[in-house]
Amino acid sequence: MNQISLQTPVRYLKGVGPEKSKILSRLELETVEDLFYFFPRRYENRFPVKTISELTLEDKECVMGTVVSRGIIRTSRGQSIFKVALSDGKNTLFGVWFNQPYLAKLFLPESKVIFYGKAEKAGKHLQMAHPEYEILKDGDFRESAHVGRIAPIYPLTEELSQKSLRSLLFQAVNRLGWLAKDPFPFSFRKKTGFVDRVFAFRQIHFPSTEEDLKKAYERLVFDEFFVMQLIVHLKKLKFQKENRGILHLKGEEEVRRFIETLDFSLTAGQEAAIRDILNDMKKPMAMKRLVQGDVGSGKTVVAAASLLFTARNGFQGALMVPTEVLAQQHYFKLTQLLEPFDIHCGYLGQGASGESRREILSRLENGDVSVVVGTHALIQQGVKFKKLGLVIIDEQHKFGVFQRSTLKEKSGDAAHFLLMTATPIPRTLAMTLYGDLDISTIRELPKGRQPVKTFWVGENKRREIYRLLDEAVAKGGQGYVICPRIEERGEFSAKSVLAAYTELNSVLSHRKIGILHGRMKSDEKKEVMREFKDRKLELLVATVVIEVGIDVPNATIMIVENAERFGLAQLHQLRGRVGRGREESVCVLFSDTVNPESADRLHAFEESDSGFEIAEKDLELRGAGDIVGEKQHGLPALRIGDFVKDTQLLELARREARQIAENDPLLEKKENLPLRREIEKRFNLSQDRLAVIA
Ligand code: ADP
Ligand code: MG
Repeated sequence: MNQISLQTPVRYLKGVGPEKSKILSRLELETVEDLFYFFPRRYENRFPVKTISELTLEDKECVMGTVVSRGIIRTSRGQSIFKVALSDGKNTLFGVWFNQPYLAKLFLPESKVIFYGKAEKAGKHLQMAHPEYEILKDGDFRESAHVGRIAPIYPLTEELSQKSLRSLLFQAVNRLGWLAKDPFPFSFRKKTGFVDRVFAFRQIHFPSTEEDLKKAYERLVFDEFFVMQLIVHLKKLKFQKENRGILHLKGEEEVRRFIETLDFSLTAGQEAAIRDILNDMKKPMAMKRLVQGDVGSGKTVVAAASLLFTARNGFQGALMVPTEVLAQQHYFKLTQLLEPFDIHCGYLGQGASGESRREILSRLENGDVSVVVGTHALIQQGVKFKKLGLVIIDEQHKFGVFQRSTLKEKSGDAAHFLLMTATPIPRTLAMTLYGDLDISTIRELPKGRQPVKTFWVGENKRREIYRLLDEAVAKGGQGYVICPRIEERGEFSAKSVLAAYTELNSVLSHRKIGILHGRMKSDEKKEVMREFKDRKLELLVATVVIEVGIDVPNATIMIVENAERFGLAQLHQLRGRVGRGREESVCVLFSDTVNPESADRLHAFEESDSGFEIAEKDLELRGAGDIVGEKQHGLPALRIGDFVKDTQLLELARREARQIAENDPLLEKKENLPLRREIEKRFNLSQDRLAVIA
């Protein structure tokens, strides 16, 4: 047989074979390494090992003794009872099993045995029914895998018992643990205080003490985060090396003038973001920056200033957004802001038909249009730029990774790259997902904004709330009513836009009410949004199509129907549509939910108006995978670490990884070779491909 390694298939291990390896593969256990990384779901404290007289009979306990006699009793109904008598020298305890006569072959007289179970009185005797047991090889209970210790409990599959899987793991980590050699030099361990990795693997499966278990956990979580972070940093360095940026040498005074023409002064966060961006673009290295700022923090002017900057340097800028409605809005806003500076803006949406599409395409190609706003249409075939200098993606959390990279391809490597998001993600996730991006954060909202008063009510308050809605409009404001779906479906389904629209038209028949949802044609949607903006409509009944970016500062009230159907981040986005002007705004959540989790969410939402706080809460309530969502891959599945609990380890891993990456970007130094092998192995990469992903 070949030399054993971490990649050796499990079927070659003692006691496995083809049959069992098939069962194991259902748990994705193919190799020795897979076994090591198959971490216990939980542990059971199966110690101390007591003598028989020490047993309390109250709980499951461990007891050790020697087999003195055994026998099978057949009952009249054809059942069998296997009984074994265990002595610890002073007292006797019986183990009892029904219908497992084969046990007689295991419990040989004189063998040392540990039982784990709940002892009870049976007449004059003590007995344990169906205890977990282990027959000790050399009579040494420290060598036991199942009882008399902190025992690991693994996830199982059909035809695989806890005991047989545990035995396999015990064998693997004890005999082959040395294969998981530590990729870090000893000096590193000494510096950080982490335990050795071989030790960590043994202890995570079969801990000697709680203390050792904790150390093992920390070490393995660190490793997991470290590899992730190392890749992130190597990637970033590679990006910086290869993407010679387009030098932006002039136009700063013009950006300043632009800022002065605004009818408000920028917040410190906006100022800082613009400064960061201009500094990046002045460098001969492509910018890769994320601006995260809460809903309504004013990211659009930051985009406008950056687009102006690139235009002044003779380049084109593209702003890509996730929805048609938002693209329209941005197009109007940018036109209004930038035309006075002689900058031609264009619009490219899905809806754009033959003629206008052809026109904008040719103006992009000949450079007549300096700033283009669009949806996915921007990344479709046939879109060519003359000299693309800056790509901005707004509400980037709405895009998948794929689309981002396509636009980047189109832009050629040199274009500067700016992402904007209003869904601040928790720091830990940001470090992981966007570790290769520089981040500017706009923390504050523009002055004069008042927090949106938020409250959760039940159906019984509906009449009052409608009155509130009516009053808000009477005072000169406008309102949104958000529903989870377009049409009614089934008896218990959530409130629909159509139903709410009909209802409002009868209750508030004197109000001008519009409707907006994703199934409307692009032109219809634009028309409705325009009417709402011009206050020709006072109330807008809509689905979450309005969730992102819509800016109508005059809107002061929002009602969310079946609020329990929305996630925290989504509610926050929705609420961001009001509270954009000077008037006090309210957000009312309708929900009669009795589900405790939903109630938790709605309460949390009532209490916080900070997107950052809400993001942290969301992470706590839902876990990382859900937050980032299916669409946004790139978040590695964690095998052991936890984005919520292990923040400190993540930060440490990040620091260490950065240091190593910066000192040795190709991991060529001798002391880093084991790390390099680790990355290559874990990501199935050949030597030369490391350079590609990195
Ligand atoms: P978001 O960050 O959600 O994209 P927007 O860019 O849509 O926010 O801005 C929200 C509103 O705030 C807009 O009406 C915008 O004109 C206004 N605004 C932006 N910056 C400021 C500021 N510094 N002071 C006052 N109002 C501002
Ligand atoms: Mg926006």
